[in-house]
Amino acid sequence: MTADTDFDELLAKLPQPSTREVFAEIEAARRAAEARTPHRTIIPEPVLPPLWPHPDSGIVRFPCALGCGWAHEEDTYRMDEDPISLPLSAGSQEIGRIFVERAERRGVVVRGRVEAAIRAHFAEAHDGQEPPEREVW
Ligand SMILES: [Zn+2]
Repeated sequence: MTADTDFDELLAKLPQPSTREVFAEIEAARRAAEARTPHRTIIPEPVLPPLWPHPDSGIVRFPCALGCGWAHEEDTYRMDEDPISLPLSAGSQEIGRIFVERAERRGVVVRGRVEAAIRAHFAEAHDGQEPPEREVW
């Protein structure tokens, strides 16, 4: 017996959803996708970093939307240095909630830092011009 056959046996023991349940799940996902509303941001589409061990791995670049060559860089390896504190009694839902809240807090900080860098760049290099916005979902 291999790990794959163990896994296959476990999968076979799981209850199989009915066609109605599968359809309801697809319908719920479709409604959730339709309910999302776009918002606008001055943060340009990021350039994702090369994979480790490339020396630039972990560095996400936000290039100037006007193509002048400037880019704000965020070191993703240094973004999450704060220790994570979890109560020993925490269940999986509480642990999930703690990680989601942590990610949301970090997202607000990173967005603020990137937007401030872009505004500072435009003030310095493209005086009088507002950073262009783009729509994101
Ligand atoms: Zn620029």
